[in-house]
Amino acid sequence: MAEVQIKNISKIYKGGSHAVKNISFTVKDKEFVVLVGPSGCGKSTTLRMIAGLEEITEGSLLIDDEVVNDLPSGERKLSMVFQNYALYPHMTAYENMAFGLKISKTPKAEIKERVNHAADILNIQDLLQKKPGNMSGGQRQRVAIGRAIVRRPKLFLFDEPLSNLDAELRTKMRIEIAKLHQTLAATIVYVTHDQIEAMTLGNRIVVMKDGQIMQIAAPMDLYLNPKNKFVAGFIGSPSMNFLSGIVLEKNGNLLFKQKSWEADLSPLNLQSLKKFIGKKVNLGIRAENIHPIEHQPQNAVPITVNISGIELLGSEKLVYANHQGNQLIAKFPATTTAVNYTKINFYLNLEKTFLFEAETGQRLF
Ligand code: ADP
Repeated sequence: MAEVQIKNISKIYKGGSHAVKNISFTVKDKEFVVLVGPSGCGKSTTLRMIAGLEEITEGSLLIDDEVVNDLPSGERKLSMVFQNYALYPHMTAYENMAFGLKISKTPKAEIKERVNHAADILNIQDLLQKKPGNMSGGQRQRVAIGRAIVRRPKLFLFDEPLSNLDAELRTKMRIEIAKLHQTLAATIVYVTHDQIEAMTLGNRIVVMKDGQIMQIAAPMDLYLNPKNKFVAGFIGSPSMNFLSGIVLEKNGNLLFKQKSWEADLSPLNLQSLKKFIGKKVNLGIRAENIHPIEHQPQNAVPITVNISGIELLGSEKLVYANHQGNQLIAKFPATTTAVNYTKINFYLNLEKTFLFEAETGQRLF
């Protein structure tokens, strides 16, 4: 069992950089938790504090209910897999994987059994006698993961393990890491800047920005119920579209109003919005909830746009357009013909929109 509790942890580096600001979350036993966010948001610092590679400035770190702030890394019973593999170049894959066990004086027969077992899991039996210099990036990363597995830790930490691999290999390894989590039934904390990796791997995702946690939730929950504009824009590809405007009341109806376009929000029946009348807001809508005329849902709201580009993806097409200085991306079936014109109406499914306060980014509905 391995449960990790982060309690009000902060990190201030010697130079004064406030990398992590009072964050708290729990990684449950056997859970796969992904820390995701843009570069510099503090995710690696958080992982390195769990690993014991970085001192904790404030707060407590517990592994299985024991405070481990001052426990040396080597005694935390965890394994870390790094982005740059960190393999010994003069050793074969077998020797690299066996090295830690040899140091801890594990009997030779047991080392052999553990390395072979890990090699079976990772499908790298034929690499065992090769040195890292003669392997591809993906093969090296497998060996690095193998080296973590043989130690049989209760907790695995992954720091951007796939970001040095090409797109195709990244997808393949992603599937393997998900499988590995099931096979090993281990607790995993995984850091990435790639939201697709986070969405496909995590049981839960911790979204970070500027050293703070923006939201913690299961992948689809983040997608469907983002708490703020940052999470709404960060999770999902293409990113959520945002239109800037204000909330207005006209003849008793609440409107989202732009200079020469408005959407009547009254069908959504949101009394709570009344206190935001006159406030600047952003209306958010995902690409799949914008429709062409032939597929518009009931009560869709038309918006006139200028088309700036089209990307055909096979079964669907991404349509890039402008509306009063805001860019909109819609996802239409590939067969849609309306987009042969430069100026068309997009149809917004109002039921699937979000509204965020412009000043704070907080979600209003
Ligand atoms: P991420 O992994 O999300 O890209 P990091 O945790 O590496 O972010 O960094 C968070 C912040 O802390 C950044 O502003 C970074 O410049 C700073 N930082 C990271 N490592 C150090 C360090 N060793 N010394 C000083 N500042 C650091």
